Amino acid sequence: MNVYDGWRIAAMLDAHGMTKTDDAADADIIILNTCAVRAKATDKVYSALGRIRLGKKPDAIMGIVGCVARESGADAFKRVPDLNFVLGPQSYHKLPEILENPDMRLFNIELSGLEKFDEMPKLEKSPLVTYIPIQEGCNHCCTYCIVPYTRGREISRNFIDCVRDVELAAKTGAVEICFLGQNVNGYKYIDENGHTYRLSDLIKSAAKFDAIKRIRFTSSYPTEMTNDLIDMFATEEKLLPFLNMPIQSGSPDVLKRMNRPYDLNQYMDIVHKLKLARPDIQISSDFIVGFPGETDDDFDQTLQIARTVKYINSYSFKYSPRPHTAAAIMPNQIPENIKSKRLTTLDAELNEIQRAFNESCVGKTLQCLCEGPDKTGRHLVYRTPYMQQCIVAKPDGDPKQICNIEITAANKASLRGKIID
Ligand code: SAH
Repeated sequence: MNVYDGWRIAAMLDAHGMTKTDDAADADIIILNTCAVRAKATDKVYSALGRIRLGKKPDAIMGIVGCVARESGADAFKRVPDLNFVLGPQSYHKLPEILENPDMRLFNIELSGLEKFDEMPKLEKSPLVTYIPIQEGCNHCCTYCIVPYTRGREISRNFIDCVRDVELAAKTGAVEICFLGQNVNGYKYIDENGHTYRLSDLIKSAAKFDAIKRIRFTSSYPTEMTNDLIDMFATEEKLLPFLNMPIQSGSPDVLKRMNRPYDLNQYMDIVHKLKLARPDIQISSDFIVGFPGETDDDFDQTLQIARTVKYINSYSFKYSPRPHTAAAIMPNQIPENIKSKRLTTLDAELNEIQRAFNESCVGKTLQCLCEGPDKTGRHLVYRTPYMQQCIVAKPDGDPKQICNIEITAANKASLRGKIID
């Protein structure tokens, strides 16, 4: 979501006659688009601001947008006195006001809705993989998570506006669409006639555009994988056989305290239905280790579920207490050294599963999307349907954006292959 927000902010500044520089010392306006999901991300913002302010032009305008802006509020001005603006994730379309009046300190962290998506200039040229935000915010209120506070309660965009965005992307260079939302499969838009549109309707509409060859979505909440959406994996070939469906923990007790009120049977039921719909589907997860009160036994259950589902491409994090969340004040916070030890153990397990999956791909032919040359310029980097990196020798002439690649070798991090057609 932040990558996407960054594109739109850049397009907006471009429309105001600004050009991008990679050197903060050369910039007239410096914006940090920020993430507040873990304390480390927030800390990095303030250390970056400290560094940048020393090297910037004296009259350069500097501000933060996104979730740290919302989390810190006016305190951000106290911590960094020469900040010019602090804009929350739903107010960054207000940036032009700053450009018109650079002396003004702009502060807006209201959760005002999703008009930003339609008010800001659209991208003139779409990247090969184009993100389409369809909803923002989350109603689940997991006890560790700051997102309902920073991005607010769930709001879904108008169905027609989303389809128009897909159409524009298809016409301007996109080959793959990734629907985005903090709770993307909770997408629900009811039009003036009372008709309800879900994510499955968006997938069907996107699949109709010839230029669009691959479709995916992120991030999903497990129990919102409704049957209409699961069916899409059986009926829409363009929908990639890969799904991020975070379980967070394998322990029913921890899940309860996280306020993720599904049980493991329910979760595994969804996994089985997905595999029935699309036998070659692979699932990835996010994991949190060291949640308050997590015992060795709870943690073992997390390792167990990772082995059972054989998650690929997963993310694992040490629990980080966040302001405005219930878990931050729970008893039995886990010491840092235990969190680190569990993270190392889980990562080793996940890496092993990934290596085994990568090796199982050798000999198969996968349809892949070209991301461009590698650092040496002698190879091309492709992305498989499972988001693995696949390196191939650069052919003569222009590379095909989508092609079938036979996988010839694999290691933990990537694949090698040769282009078939
Ligand atoms: N559904 C959201 C989640 C984003 S956060 C979205 O896509 O925007 C991504 C992952 O960070 C979560 O799935 C969770 O595993 C992890 N996470 C969230 N809050 C956390 C915290 N307080 N400490 C550690 N990890 C956290």
